[in-house]
Amino acid sequence: MSKKRVVISACLLGELCRYDGKTKKIKSVVEAFKEYEIIPFCPEAPLFGTPRERISVVEIEDEHRIITDESKRDVTQQLKNEILSFIKKNQDIDAIVLKSKSPSCGKGTTPILNTQGDFLSYGNGIAVDMFESFYEGIEIIDEVKCL
Ligand code: SF4
Repeated sequence: MSKKRVVISACLLGELCRYDGKTKKIKSVVEAFKEYEIIPFCPEAPLFGTPRERISVVEIEDEHRIITDESKRDVTQQLKNEILSFIKKNQDIDAIVLKSKSPSCGKGTTPILNTQGDFLSYGNGIAVDMFESFYEGIEIIDEVKCL
């Protein structure tokens, strides 16, 4: 029988793919899914390299956009394309664990800013919004649930 498959944010697995070139490895995440086939996921590093400029979720005209912090580039569509390409390659998934607070991976924990950079609320990263509509019925959890 084939193993169940879990998508996990690559930085939680020990990959040095964060914006600052570091990782956020959490052993208990791997431990919780040791019976699964693990599929690493990181939409930012392949697009923008590591280390890279930070990005944030910014509310613009009632829409959430992903904007680079310093150069103020809108990278929403690039990220959407990257995430969609991942989804197309990985349609048969049983579980998803994503890194909290990230503009890509955070679920309900990501700061949403206004165009002046002020905090508005906590919400989802862009990958969570897309995963929720494509992987219907699969609960997305973050690393905190595995501690
Ligand atoms: Fe990549 Fe997501 Fe980790 Fe950010 S939180 S480094 S986008 S896997």
